[in-house]
Amino acid sequence: MNNNFKLEKIRNIGITAHIDAGKTTTTERILFYTGKVHRIGEVDEGSAITDWMELEKERGITITSASVTSMWRGYRINIIDTPGHVDFTAEVERSLRILDGAIAIFCAVGGVEPQSETVWKQADKYKVPRLAFVNKMDRIGADFYNTVEMIKTRLKANPVCIQLPIGSEDLFTGIIDLVKMKSVMYNERSFGALFEEKEIQKDLLENAVNYRNKMLEAISEFDDILMEKYLDGKDILEEDIKKALRKATLSAEIVPVLCGSAYRNKGIQKILDAVVDYFPSPLDVGDVIGINPLTGLEERWSISLDSPFSALAFKVMADPHVGKLVYCRIYSGKAKTGDLVLNATTGKKERFGRILQMFANKREDITDALCGNIVAAVGLKNTKTGDTLCNEKNPIKLEAMKFEEPVISIAIEPKTKTDQDRLDGALNRLSEEDPTFKVNVDSDTGQTIISGMGELHLEIIKDRLVREFKVCANVGKPEVSYRETISKKAETEGKFIRQTGGRGQYGHVKLILEPAENGKGFQFENKIKRGVIPKEYIRPISEGIKETMKNGVIAGYPLIDIKATLLDGSYHEVDSSELAFKAAGSIALKEGVKKADPVLLEPIMELEVIVPEEYLGEIINNLTSRRAKIERISPRKDAQIIKAIVPLSEMFGYATSLRSLSQGRAIYTMQFSHYYQIPENISNKIVEKIMGFV
Ligand code: GDP
Repeated sequence: MNNNFKLEKIRNIGITAHIDAGKTTTTERILFYTGKVHRIGEVDEGSAITDWMELEKERGITITSASVTSMWRGYRINIIDTPGHVDFTAEVERSLRILDGAIAIFCAVGGVEPQSETVWKQADKYKVPRLAFVNKMDRIGADFYNTVEMIKTRLKANPVCIQLPIGSEDLFTGIIDLVKMKSVMYNERSFGALFEEKEIQKDLLENAVNYRNKMLEAISEFDDILMEKYLDGKDILEEDIKKALRKATLSAEIVPVLCGSAYRNKGIQKILDAVVDYFPSPLDVGDVIGINPLTGLEERWSISLDSPFSALAFKVMADPHVGKLVYCRIYSGKAKTGDLVLNATTGKKERFGRILQMFANKREDITDALCGNIVAAVGLKNTKTGDTLCNEKNPIKLEAMKFEEPVISIAIEPKTKTDQDRLDGALNRLSEEDPTFKVNVDSDTGQTIISGMGELHLEIIKDRLVREFKVCANVGKPEVSYRETISKKAETEGKFIRQTGGRGQYGHVKLILEPAENGKGFQFENKIKRGVIPKEYIRPISEGIKETMKNGVIAGYPLIDIKATLLDGSYHEVDSSELAFKAAGSIALKEGVKKADPVLLEPIMELEVIVPEEYLGEIINNLTSRRAKIERISPRKDAQIIKAIVPLSEMFGYATSLRSLSQGRAIYTMQFSHYYQIPENISNKIVEKIMGFV
């Protein structure tokens, strides 16, 4: 395949959906119609294409991002797989950073499910242009107009129908295209590959005209020509509408709504047309912006093959055939196989061994990684998710995706001693793939500790160890990763002075420590008056403090949310060194924290439970006994949705307990929200336990 593709003919898109809305089916149909797969695999039979991992098929959720390339009308559409499940927000977050447009799929029966709100909000944050596809129009209870209303009210979006369904449920036979003002009728026997465009049926015309006018009204303000024609009642061309719709969609101020039934092959080609017509090309997204790691200054390059090379590694995957695969989005310039590039995040050089283009059912070796594209690279040994790759002569570091630190850990050991090496290798691979999964060795016990974002997350890791890496492991009890912070301001001093013949050591600092805002991490301010401590020692002081924050004073958990202000100190002409000031910073922090009333913090989770009315009372009682704060209970058809915040430590085994409380009819999702101070009576118990008193 010719890789030298015109930038305006590329679309990098994602598909987001609530579980079961039909993402897998739609993706498959897209791959079918784009000609890369010649058989329609049914999800129900477990032959989905984007669900590559065995595990995903079984669980029916998509937990990894990969990218698949397909062709439509001479355009290259790269579909970046985005997970729909909120437990994997890190995955969603990472995908949204590198795609230019997202198709949001909704089920015409369920409408906007509560979990869709989380992903939608994230897409809002990155201003990702979206199309909405109201799927399952053939199902009993399908209601297109209700789903559109829910997109407006629940997601606070501005949906604009560009299609209307013809009939619904069993009688869903086609689609009215409001841009062309035609009816599109599908041929069932050709699996929807063939369809006819006809005049709109008389009985449907009035509603169609009404909705077309709504569409024109909504988009005319984005294009003067359309506005003029619309106001003057002149003939409006299809091209005029498309131009305005494109501008409006790119601005992310409206969301064009399409409809269909992926399962019955209706509406798929129209989705592809809309992607080509209304979604941005890499050129529409704006310049590449990053920081030059050498100068610390901003770099801004145009999106072009002639700009220096820059790429973001957005997914690392262990592939059984080629080893480590790094998926990259190329933002500017080009690189060839065999090229040495700089990993601006680690400062190390890397070589592109092979460059692959991934299709649904095959991969192709290509020689160039070109601007605007998505490729998978082999041979990048030390590149992790979120790293920037660039040309050594023009270094740039793109804004990295932000990932939360893990909140839960578990000890793990191989079932047999001979498996130790295999386990270490597998854990290492998995942590390269997933930035929210970490592996550490406890220096006291020598145990391997793995950490992640929740019980489900670690359970999946355990399953993958068995399935993909064929290592069986025993795991201990999950433990919450606590944090420590200070609760008041304190002045502190640190001296590191050694005078033992020859050259000594001299570092001396005075600091003020104070609590920083929640989520701020570590802040450092230098208020040293000229020359009291020479400039070159300031950074080491801050580094010394930061390093020491890894171990708090209450129970050794990392300290967070502390602001340190460097006020004063002294130095020695001969004996002072970076090392001495680093040590002084470290001592000052340790002493200061003790004086600043340190406290233990625990991870607080955002919880959402969907529960049939009759179990509501019991489930709420159970949550209250878990120290949950119920924030909202809202009705939803025949169920209630409980939104609550709850300490993670109280939620172990919740899946089992919820199942038995609701006879398996309630479901929940949970994600990390923030750290918060633990009530004193509980905190004391935790400390006693950690210190081995109980
Ligand atoms: P995902 O979880 O979003 O990937 O959803 P799937 O594509 O796996 O679909 C979930 C279920 O809905 C499967 O049983 C599909 O066969 C079914 N499904 C998907 N699209 C449609 C549709 O348009 N109509 C009907 N009736 N069922 C559908």
